[in-house]
Order: sequence, then structure tokens, then C-alpha cells
Amino acid sequence: MPALLSRLCLAILFIAFAQPIVHAQQLKAGAALRVLTPAPLLPVSGGVGVPKPTTQKQGDLFVRAFVLEKAGVRVAIVGIDNLGWTSILGDRSRALIKGIPAENILIGATHTHSAPDAYAFADEKGKHGADLKYLDWCTRQIADAVNEAVSNLAPATLKIAVGEAKGKISYNYYADQLFDPRCGVIQAIGTSGASKGKVLATLVNYAVHPEVIGSGRGILSPDLCGPLYERIESKVGGVALFMNGAQGGMVTADNRLPDNQQANDWNECKRIGELLADEALRIVGDAKEQTDPSLTCVSKKVSFPVDSKLMQYILANSPLKAPNMSKDSVTTRVNLLNIGTAQVLTIPGEALPNIGYYLKRNMHTKQPFLFGLTNDAFGYMLTKVDFNSFKRYEYVSRTSLGEKTGDIYIEQALQLVNGNPAADKAK
Ligand SMILES: [Zn+2]
Repeated sequence: MPALLSRLCLAILFIAFAQPIVHAQQLKAGAALRVLTPAPLLPVSGGVGVPKPTTQKQGDLFVRAFVLEKAGVRVAIVGIDNLGWTSILGDRSRALIKGIPAENILIGATHTHSAPDAYAFADEKGKHGADLKYLDWCTRQIADAVNEAVSNLAPATLKIAVGEAKGKISYNYYADQLFDPRCGVIQAIGTSGASKGKVLATLVNYAVHPEVIGSGRGILSPDLCGPLYERIESKVGGVALFMNGAQGGMVTADNRLPDNQQANDWNECKRIGELLADEALRIVGDAKEQTDPSLTCVSKKVSFPVDSKLMQYILANSPLKAPNMSKDSVTTRVNLLNIGTAQVLTIPGEALPNIGYYLKRNMHTKQPFLFGLTNDAFGYMLTKVDFNSFKRYEYVSRTSLGEKTGDIYIEQALQLVNGNPAADKAK
């Protein structure tokens, strides 16, 4: 080898080894919670109409925040024990959250039917039964929880799995087999310092109406979500979150008893919540740890026409006004996340389960997650084919924005999926 060439080779070798070894930036995770139980208790809402008075509580209402960070991308996933949480309220919290872009803060409602009215639904006289001071306090509690989760960020790995939750958990009230039994789980585990080997957060994604107790029993409650959190946290520690799925029309808790009876008490919330918790922990139990998972967060604004007379009335008469809403259309944000091998799409309402199946089948991952009632909750979302079809669908059609909602959402959501990278491939 000519001397010059060998010297050049040595120089290249030297440069190669003299470079510091660049590690891929470590994923970090953090979680925190705040109680949202009002004191004194407030009336509760299970849908449109005047909230119903309460005399007692079963369990506490919470906001639970899970923050992930990797290579300059920071994302917050927030679960609130309420029927639905509009972007009007969500944006008040976003403005108080430091260090996370507003469009990377995903705020979802668990859809418990036993929490205070956060829509300020107007009655026929234009009056509402919401406590605006309570809602304002909630928005600060929510921001506090996310800010604390940011301050808790610590190096972490992820365990991610999607599997069938077995047992008597949910069913479709309209046609009992037509529901999605898949439960998605994302668990963050600390890798250094005091949190080494400890579970920091466990997120459970499953489609169900938490309405075992409902709004008509004088009880304020997180419903089955409360026992789910408690069970997970007592078994593995950390903070547990529940993000609902495509639970519209009408995927609900399987509290059926013989002779057309139903169990509607706290014991039934415990049975179902604990069973779902146990199933989630079983499903994620032998998932391989992902030590270098990707993290991406993209989003787009989507507008929907408001054709429904009922929804027009609600939007026009709620004291919670926002610039993104007019009588004839609403605009909201849809997010797409890649978290390691998982991909997450948000849904701004209650999509029917067939929409959920179609989205999951077309997402670029083997581990699809759908966060229903997230960033907004505009009622039911049906395809135009389903809209005002079966007699059974009269209610969900009336309480949807209109005939076009489902199809617009599917098209826009899949544009987001197809225009962005796929989730990590499983190794
Ligand atoms: Zn619902």
C-alpha cells in the first residue's frame, strides 16, 4: 500500500474512533395525577339535559397525565374522569402547561356517566346546570398534573401489547357481539436512579361505556375506571390511565344479570374494573421491553358540519363558547402518535365500533390504539351508511353532528396515517 494511502487510512481510522460514541437519545417518561372530585359534591351528567343531584360518592374523579419525551419530541396523554371534555376547557389547561406544544397535548375523557357536566348543556329555556367555577378549577388541576409529569420525566423503556381482554367486561347493547375485545397497553418502566425497574405508568386503551352506575342514582363516581386504576397501581405501582376507544352505538359495560336485570352498583364497577385491569396486566405481561422506541406526534385540524338541530342548539346556547365552533361547523384537532411499535389515532367523539375496526385495520402498525373522546367529544360518529338506518340508531344519529361526521373523520384520519411514517417494526 503506498505510504500516503496507508497514512490516509490511519487518519480515517483515527477520526472514526476519536468521535464520541453517539447514543440514540434515551426515551423519558413521567406521570402524575390530581383529584377532580368536587367538594361539596355536584350534580352529575350522563348526557344531554339537566345534571342529576348527588348525595354521595363512590371513588374519586381524577386527571391522570402521562408524558413521553424523545429526541426533542414531547407528548402528553391526559385522561379525565368525565363524560366528555371539550377543547374549550382543554385549551385553558394547554395555555398553563409549560414545555409541551399545545398540539402535542392529547386530552381525553373516560366517559364516566357520573361526573359533573363539563359541556354546560342548555335546557329548552337556555339554562344550564354546570358549575363553571368547578370546571375552571379542573383546568388548573389538569395543567398541574401535566406540569408535574414533565418534572418527573426519567429515562424509561416501554412495554407495549395489544390483545383480547377475556371475560365479562363489555358487550354491545344494540347487538351483543358487535364490539372490539382488543385491549391496548403501554407501560413505561424506569431504567435509572430511584425509578430503575419500577413501573412509572400503565396506559389501558379499551372501548366501553363506563355507565354501570350512571347519572340517575345520586352517586358521583369514576365508575369502573376507579377500580381499574386502583387495581393496576396496587399490583405494579406507578400511575394508571384509561383512554377509551371506539365505544359508540352502543358498546357498554357487561353488567347483565339473568332475567334482563342489570347490576348497577359499586361492586359491579369493581368487578369489571378489576377484571379489565387484570387482563391489561396479563396482556402486557410478557411484552418485550423496547429500549429505543421512536416517538412522533403529528396532528391536523378537521372541520365537521353541524347538521343536527339538537347539536346546533347545544353549541349555540352553551356558555362555553370557543372560536372553533359556530352554529354550522366545528373544528377540532386529530392526532397521530407513533410510540415504539404502537400507533395511536385520536377520535373527537364516540365512533361506532365498525369505524374503529376499519381504522385499526388501515393503520400502519400491528398495535393500533384509538383514543376516543379525545381533544373534543362531539357526540356519536357514524358513517353515512349507518346514519338514520336501523331504528336502533335513531338516538345515536340524533346525538351526532350529522350524516357526514363519520366519513369525514375516516378520510381525514387515514390521510394523516398515510402521509406519515409507520410505527416501529417489532424486533
Ligand atoms: Zn356515550
